[in-house]
Amino acid sequence: MVEFKEYISEMNRRLKKYFPESDSLTPAEEGVFKPLDVFRVPKKEADEQRYKAIKYAFKHHYENNSFYRKFCKENNVTPDDIKSIKDFNKIPLVPDQFFKTYPSGKEFAMWLATVYTGELPSIVVKRNDDYDDIINKFNEAGLVISYSSGTSGRHTFIPRDKRTFYDAEYMIAKAVITMVYPFWEYDSYGYLLMPNPFKTNVFAGKVCGSYFDAVKDVQVAMDRELKADLIQAAMKNNLKGRIIRYAMQRENKKMIDKIINWLREHYKNEDKISFIGAPFILYFVMEELEKNGEYFDFGENGAIVTGGGWKIFEDRRISVEEFRKKAEKILGIPPENCLDLYAMVEGNGFMIHCPEGHYLHIPHTYYQAMVIDENGEEVAEGEKGRFAFLDGLAMSYPGFIISGDEVRMYEECPACDRPTPVLEPEVKRAAGSEMRGCAEEMRRVLAMDMGGGNA
Ligand SMILES: [Zn+2]
Repeated sequence: MVEFKEYISEMNRRLKKYFPESDSLTPAEEGVFKPLDVFRVPKKEADEQRYKAIKYAFKHHYENNSFYRKFCKENNVTPDDIKSIKDFNKIPLVPDQFFKTYPSGKEFAMWLATVYTGELPSIVVKRNDDYDDIINKFNEAGLVISYSSGTSGRHTFIPRDKRTFYDAEYMIAKAVITMVYPFWEYDSYGYLLMPNPFKTNVFAGKVCGSYFDAVKDVQVAMDRELKADLIQAAMKNNLKGRIIRYAMQRENKKMIDKIINWLREHYKNEDKISFIGAPFILYFVMEELEKNGEYFDFGENGAIVTGGGWKIFEDRRISVEEFRKKAEKILGIPPENCLDLYAMVEGNGFMIHCPEGHYLHIPHTYYQAMVIDENGEEVAEGEKGRFAFLDGLAMSYPGFIISGDEVRMYEECPACDRPTPVLEPEVKRAAGSEMRGCAEEMRRVLAMDMGGGNA
């Protein structure tokens, strides 16, 4: 078995392009790029690193983002008030809803400038430009603006600078490769169950670009260009929405057949395979295989990393555990190789299951996770509340955010000895809070009508 050190060095060689060009790393980048295993940095060391990372980021946004500075002044907090990690709860949190309150057209570009820390490159907005047109212009000028959408059809737009985005792409790959150790090998075959990173501004797809550097051959389930306006239209329950969904439904059947053929071919050749992305697609693949009595036994040659929503139909969720059992039964992929990843467009923290107990480990060298009650106070350990975070990696927007996700957090993992805090294995949206997530918009667009759904 390859030694962990050699394993990560090989990964770093493959992911060289994501390393910051500048010689000086930010404190958060030190927490991401330097440790061999981010999830095994001893607690005391991680606390120090995280303090430096978040203090640095807070000062940066306070000084360079006038909207956030105003927000801090309203809350009577300045960077001088943050003297240790005990003071982190003083840092004002932006509600995730804020990133949905954008206007359209020219004003959309101005709104982005408000959110953005520093100077946005200047672009020319034409009258008929839609959101993707505007985003693409900024992205050609050096930014990486991406979005996610919720069931209301409102998008969450997050402006990252290229460096922050590269940091995120590196970190997501490192989180996955670390946790699946010793599974990962460059000489293997991948299937991305997300939109093509190179043809979309959807964050869940775009952030997976590093998959193509980490693995020699990656197929993409959703290869067509996917635009914000199309997602919005497809989600509406009118004639146009139904027509778009009908067209997509036909493509879905082809997509499932393609994945099944891919499985057959690589099983026959005894290749190593991995899937990354939305669980519902693989769920439909497995349903189809089971219906036809076709089973595989990939064993240690297969791995699955899921991300996003666990809704399969409008009215049905599958549990993460149920999914793992299905993957073992139908594909022969062991539960230790079937992990879930929790992340969101607003942040650069990638929480991932440990193979031992499937708890979500928090990358504690640069990212502070918190659980907040309705009064904005932190709840006691193990109690339910809203997930909030301080992200030291985000340099282009203030990544101090309270989300609508409901979680429980524990200081120690009940199942393994990694020294990070953990979230319970499954994250749900808080009641009354809008459904969204990496996979949810994809699911609504692509899977609504599958299996006689009730869109
Ligand atoms: Zn664990």
